Amino acid sequence: MAAIAKDKVVSIHYTLTDDDGAVLDASSHGPLAYLHGHGTIIPGLERELEGLSVGDEKNVTVAPADAYGLSDPDAVQKVHRSEFPKDMELEVGRAVHASTPDGQHLTLWITEIKGAYITLTTNHPLADKTLHFAVKVAEVRDATPEELDHGHVHGPGGHHH
Ligand code: ZN
Repeated sequence: MAAIAKDKVVSIHYTLTDDDGAVLDASSHGPLAYLHGHGTIIPGLERELEGLSVGDEKNVTVAPADAYGLSDPDAVQKVHRSEFPKDMELEVGRAVHASTPDGQHLTLWITEIKGAYITLTTNHPLADKTLHFAVKVAEVRDATPEELDHGHVHGPGGHHH
């Protein structure tokens, strides 16, 4: 039976909980498909899935450094509401995509809205958290040449384009 290795397309069911057992995320809309060995999922999880086969279940604990990193207290900025597009819905927790003057793409998350000022951070909402994954492998298959070329999965659970 095919084991998880580099260049395999892997589909997993998973539940992600924090240290207190609160569910942070889960594959509730069907299994998550990803291309193994290409850094498209967090490194601490990808490493632990190596070698598993369909039907295998595993609990994986990932330290912040191998997940979404440690937060940088300086990576916070306050921006006036008028800096955002008028029709944009602003709410705490929302991810905002921006580009720096030198063309780098950034994701920021809204952490606070106070009056006309919006506080944003580049720290991922799951930064500093130890993540606990309960994983069950649903499918393992060879990637198509096109998927390898694009570096991501096509079809169910993957990219559609
Ligand atoms: Zn593609």
